Amino acid sequence: MRNKTFVAIAIFIVLVAVSTPIAISLYLAWKQSFDDQMDIAALLAEDILRRNDESSDQTLGILTTLAAEGAVDPCSVENIRLMGALDLASEHVQAVGYVKDDWLLCSSYGHHNTPLGPANYITPYGTAVRTLVEFPVLPEKRFLISTDLKSGYTVAIHHNRPLDVFVDEPSISVGVLSSVTNSPIVSRGEFKPAWIDSVGKQTESRFSDGEYLVVVKHSSKYAFAAYVAVPATKVSDGLRRLSRFLVPFGLVAGALLAWMVLCLAKRQLALPAVIKVALKRNEFFLHYQPIVDLQTGQWVGAEALIRWQRPNGEMIRPDLFIAVAEEVGLIPRITERVISLIGDDIHDLFARHPKFHIAINLSAVDLQSRQTIEYLDVLHKKTKAGPGNLIVEATERGFMNVGVAREILDEVRARGIEVAIDDFGTGYSSLSYLESFNLDYLKIDKSFVDTLGKDAATSQVVLHIIDMAKSLNLKMIAEGVETEAQAQLLRQRGVQFAQGWHFGKPVPFSTLLEQLDKSTASLAVTPRVDL
Ligand code: C2E
Ligand code: CA
Ligand code: CA
Repeated sequence: MRNKTFVAIAIFIVLVAVSTPIAISLYLAWKQSFDDQMDIAALLAEDILRRNDESSDQTLGILTTLAAEGAVDPCSVENIRLMGALDLASEHVQAVGYVKDDWLLCSSYGHHNTPLGPANYITPYGTAVRTLVEFPVLPEKRFLISTDLKSGYTVAIHHNRPLDVFVDEPSISVGVLSSVTNSPIVSRGEFKPAWIDSVGKQTESRFSDGEYLVVVKHSSKYAFAAYVAVPATKVSDGLRRLSRFLVPFGLVAGALLAWMVLCLAKRQLALPAVIKVALKRNEFFLHYQPIVDLQTGQWVGAEALIRWQRPNGEMIRPDLFIAVAEEVGLIPRITERVISLIGDDIHDLFARHPKFHIAINLSAVDLQSRQTIEYLDVLHKKTKAGPGNLIVEATERGFMNVGVAREILDEVRARGIEVAIDDFGTGYSSLSYLESFNLDYLKIDKSFVDTLGKDAATSQVVLHIIDMAKSLNLKMIAEGVETEAQAQLLRQRGVQFAQGWHFGKPVPFSTLLEQLDKSTASLAVTPRVDL
């Protein structure tokens, strides 16, 4: 069952691992391409707007100059000469003239009598605009003609001049719209009225209608706007181009992730078998972490912690394999091995340090089996342990099957082996529940010790735990103490013992013993001052 779930989860993770980076890279490629095309459209619209603002500035300048001149006869030789001069001086303007009643009477090129037809629209500045005027003398050319209604003076610009921008792609639509009529004054390519309806009069709008990416930019000075519409297919072209780099990258990243997940899964699945082999090949050994008296700083005991080194040198953490061993029923064999290893390590320890204790971790199933007592009996005899020399640590989960667990723990205690409740606070035991067991120690879990000194609400919890231990008359060992500040706070609160990197990391038994012998020797030579 466990394996099936595991395989299902592993397959799911592999699928996610492969598809996620690809999906993300595709999305990023699409987004990048979309933004690029929008930026191209915006730049183009900006260019068109700038040219048209310039044309309008020049047109307005010419019309104002002529009106200010106030010639009695607008088509006089002098005035036509002035028109010519203004025309020449202007970069955008092709001709300057005079219109009366929709007829062009004269221009910078001389006298005419050409009908222009009605204006297409009138701007808010009183300018009549004709967007597509043809002159019989210039049949191929079309002009955009603006006439000041008051003076009749007129400026002609080549019809395609406003869109005289560099567009290398014929599928891109460009144009200039009148804000009066909301229709194009000049345009090239497709134009959809819906584009204008949706944007209102904001300075710049960018949007996509599915078929085109559109940018509309309104002139800040005049009643027109430039628009550029790039076909949405250009985005997919860009996407294809970018995908060529990004997707292989995503695939490699995905494959790498998948490979890691598979390795992990394979290892996790193979773990029970590997644990059995490790038991046979004696790959397990023990480290011992000192437990100190918080008042004196003396080492009063040590917790035996299992270590596993594979033949290739790799260390496997107990968090990983103890849980697996628990699930597949290998814990009794591990506990047996741990107890026997302790026996090998510590044989004459209590003779040399009669007050020292060694703590042994038991799993939940160990508290359900009388075999545990047998293993402990052997150890007890072999080490000639006195009362309190051996401690067993049981987690709250171990107390779940109350009846059997209590019986076994009572028998253990009858041998002078003390009992500690481990990782306290991380499970679900209540005070009344704890009261029903005969315990000696409570180990305050590292997660609570970590909150000490921090202003977290959880730091209150540790105080409650301490109160609870006191009311149950339990000795306390704080786990995972890493700083003197934590030790100080615990000491102040009446916690007697502590364990953690601040005092000492788990070490081989020989190192522990060496230290222990040294400190006892130094104690022995320290002169005592009897008060
Ligand atoms: P645990 O019983 O709570 O053991 C304490 C763990 O905290 C140990 O991790 C120890 O190395 C670590 N530790 C101690 N002081 C500090 C500190 O100041 N900072 C930090 N960050 N960590 C600290 P380890 O040895 O990796 O053991 C992990 C768990 O594996 C143990 O937690 C215990 O539940 C289990 N375990 C270890 N040995 C045995 C064993 O022989 N039998 C069984 N059944 N479980 C064991
Ligand atoms: Ca423990
Ligand atoms: Ca613990």
